[in-house]
Amino acid sequence: MRATQWMGKDHVEVNEVPDPRLLNDRDAIVKVTSTAICGSDLHLYDGFIPTMKKGDILGHEFMGEVVEVGKGVGNLRVGDRVVVPFPIACGACTACERGLFSVCENSNPNAGMAEKLWGHSPCGIYGYSHLVGGYPGGQAEYARVPFADVGPLKVEDDLTDEQVLFLTDIFPTGYMGAEMCDISPGDVVAVWGAGPVGLFAVASAKMLGAERVIAIDRFGYRLDKAREAGATDVLNYEEVDVLDALNELTAGRGPDGCIDAAGLEATHPTTAVDAYDRAKTAVMAETERPHALREAIMACRNGGTVSIVGVYGGLMDKFPVGSLMNRSLTVRTGQAHVHRYLKPLYEKIRDGEIDPTFLISHTLPLDRAPEGYRMFRDKEDNCTKVVLKP
Ligand code: NAD
Ligand code: ZN
Ligand code: ZN
Repeated sequence: MRATQWMGKDHVEVNEVPDPRLLNDRDAIVKVTSTAICGSDLHLYDGFIPTMKKGDILGHEFMGEVVEVGKGVGNLRVGDRVVVPFPIACGACTACERGLFSVCENSNPNAGMAEKLWGHSPCGIYGYSHLVGGYPGGQAEYARVPFADVGPLKVEDDLTDEQVLFLTDIFPTGYMGAEMCDISPGDVVAVWGAGPVGLFAVASAKMLGAERVIAIDRFGYRLDKAREAGATDVLNYEEVDVLDALNELTAGRGPDGCIDAAGLEATHPTTAVDAYDRAKTAVMAETERPHALREAIMACRNGGTVSIVGVYGGLMDKFPVGSLMNRSLTVRTGQAHVHRYLKPLYEKIRDGEIDPTFLISHTLPLDRAPEGYRMFRDKEDNCTKVVLKP
């Protein structure tokens, strides 16, 4: 089959590789009909996540048709159309039972490696380095789906791939980012990053009842999309002082909820690799760009919530813990527990409450994945989200 392979920093290729096979009774094989490039993939492309190997198959946002099922998968049949959540989760461990699917205790065969860096291990993730399992990803013609009796959601034929594809990751991630802010009517929510995750966080904050939603980015075309998603205000951080502007918009108090949907993108050069290599002694270099997370903490109103869905890998120096402590802030974070949100968000799409297709800027054949990565990373041609068609 054809698959998108990580070949090194700034280098992906689409090549011929062996087809995946069933390895366990609870596996299914999915013939991928649509798959997307995520901001998280850019951290791999940029070389910021350790333990990638040359030739690893990328992609954790994919959907398609079930073509083979193991003996233990009673809920799926060949021919079913499914979306696949990016966290690989067993459904039965203590974490899964609590709905904490992205920290499943049974899906990362390389847990020891993750523990060295993070203390404990999160779940396995498709196409996202050996630190989280080394699972081949879904930017390919076929993918093996472990625990297929737990993860995949069947979708009805009257919904297009484009309408439901983002249930695999970014819609639940943006939604969880907003949900973690415990929004009350009248609340003001600010979102750092108007990429795909930030755009879903904006839309979700509106759905959850925020009165004002403020999107922050440096790309005008993404801020325009944020307005489409429901942002009441947008701030270009290259043009205004974000902290001053947020104070002005909130009578000096600051937003009730502050969502970091930028992550490593806002901290180049970051410390994931350093931290891993230097065993927790790395100190983050200051960069010329404002740091989204630090700004989110400083901006937040007293007693408010900082919600981090942007991905971080290592350490962050100059983390303003004093601001958190002295101002009674709450920090909530996590890789999205996608499984929790699949059905409720699917219903919102089916009921027409949201149309996720608004953020797709480019649809390309799988073979043009290298071009898709470059355009998405470099914000060429007003690129917001790339969908690949194997
Ligand atoms: P993206 O790279 O397209 O978007 C990031 C945006 O942040 C860009 O538009 C960029 O201009 C903006 N940005 C950078 N620095 C900023 C700053 N200082 N202030 C404001 N905006 C700034 O990526 P995406 O697909 O939207 O993903 C965003 C983040 O979410 C990534 O870190 C990704 O890894 C992460 N993510 C997390 C989860 C999860 O489960 N928690 C899931 C998917 C993605
Ligand atoms: Zn993703
Ligand atoms: Zn589990």
